[in-house]
Amino acid sequence: MKFGGTSVKDAEMIKRVASLTKERYNEGVEVVVVVSAMSGTTDQLIQIGENLKKRRKQEAHDLINQIEDRHKETAKKLLSNNDLVDSVLGEVDEIIGELRLLAEEMDNFIDRSFDYLMSFGERLSAPLLSAALQDNNVPSKHLTGREAGVITNQCYGSAIPLSESNKRIKESVLPLLEESVPVITGFIGCSKNGDITTLGRGGSDYSASTIGRAIEADEIWIWTDVDGLLTTDPRVVPEAQTLRRISYREAMELSFFGAEVLHPKSIEPAIEKNIPVRVKNTFTPGFEGTLIVKDEEKVEGVVKGVSAERDVALVNISGMDIIGTPGIAADAFGALADADINIIMISTGSSEPTISLLVDEKDLSRAIKALETEFSDNTIEEITHDPEVSVITVVGSGMAGTPGIAGRVFTAMGQEKINIIMISQGSSEFNISFVVKKHETNSALRSLHEEFRLDKKDYKL
Ligand code: ADP
Ligand code: ASP
Ligand code: MG
Repeated sequence: MKFGGTSVKDAEMIKRVASLTKERYNEGVEVVVVVSAMSGTTDQLIQIGENLKKRRKQEAHDLINQIEDRHKETAKKLLSNNDLVDSVLGEVDEIIGELRLLAEEMDNFIDRSFDYLMSFGERLSAPLLSAALQDNNVPSKHLTGREAGVITNQCYGSAIPLSESNKRIKESVLPLLEESVPVITGFIGCSKNGDITTLGRGGSDYSASTIGRAIEADEIWIWTDVDGLLTTDPRVVPEAQTLRRISYREAMELSFFGAEVLHPKSIEPAIEKNIPVRVKNTFTPGFEGTLIVKDEEKVEGVVKGVSAERDVALVNISGMDIIGTPGIAADAFGALADADINIIMISTGSSEPTISLLVDEKDLSRAIKALETEFSDNTIEEITHDPEVSVITVVGSGMAGTPGIAGRVFTAMGQEKINIIMISQGSSEFNISFVVKKHETNSALRSLHEEFRLDKKDYKL
């Protein structure tokens, strides 16, 4: 069971999480808990890093003090046993001391130190939750992702667990599981040479499924602050409904294209071992939430969900030579691959002197640099870019072989006078993705939700 940041945001919520865990434990279920940082802490740690970069040490230390106070106050409110309070306060002191030392020494801003900095949120929340369990007579131990054996590659900031983690996690977690509820920090891994790595924002989901895969869990439960994986982002469309049952593939498409309730890579480990994933709401634990499984189920109306990813940017490469000159696309893709830049969407037409690429917004300046260097010989006339775009994705397994879906999607956009900048549909026909201007994202989501009557669906199991 993984609990997100809102689920552990204060003493009251941590108590709730401890009692939800205790219920399962008392039923005789073996539970491993994976926990996120208290909500807002990771953002504060990033701010600390930004301040240190700009040599604003005082601001950084003020933030560290705030983090220290919040965790200490929470411990005092949370725990009834004084020995437990003392022991948690001691641990917080130790971890905060290490953070202060890092802030003092962090002059050399390499990615590695940033991951180390970002890991402090989970390192602070895990002792609190583990103590809350002990306070409720549930034996518990806490450990970091590194101690649990989550070994990753060295892609700092978006590290990927390696297969050798399976054995290491099994060895460290299974013995603990026999006698306690282990509480493991989400988000954190460790490279082969022992440096702390992080799995990307929202990465605790990925930690949970990585650990679930290693111990071959019966189910992976993601506890969050909404009723499951919904038909769209409820902040934009309040009528969004819970998808009661959905396939791995569809959940992956929705999360890859912006449904942040699940980390985009969190489904992959579950697929490998065919483990069902449940998404549940910590605030309404009686509700079943979403069950994510292998099998696809076609629903009436075909489309199941729509999502939007805003942190993307468009790059256009143009020049008359693109028409009929073999190899230009290959050169562009090669240059981006060499710079470790992922291409989210590609579009080109045989009569068009343009290749359009969609990349992560954070990669934009590196992408342009890589392409300019690659085409410095003038084979290309112009490289333009636009960060003010979003990609909208319509998902549903039944779309394969059902004519007319694209027509309805684009008619709905036309009626809203939303201009489509780029379109892509994979041959598997599980989704249609298209790019619009960023300021039109919300109206695109609302009108598609209405067009496919997603607010009226009743996804019964
Ligand atoms: P946690 O802290 O529990 O990991 P996140 O903030 O990462 O939670 O993810 C949950 C949030 O994702 C929800 O509060 C919701 O606003 C947002 N969200 C966006 N799209 C969707 C969707 N399709 N279904 C559910 N939630 C979504
Ligand atoms: N604390 C990390 C973040 O805010 C990881 C997570 O919450 O899943 O991104
Ligand atoms: Mg999350």
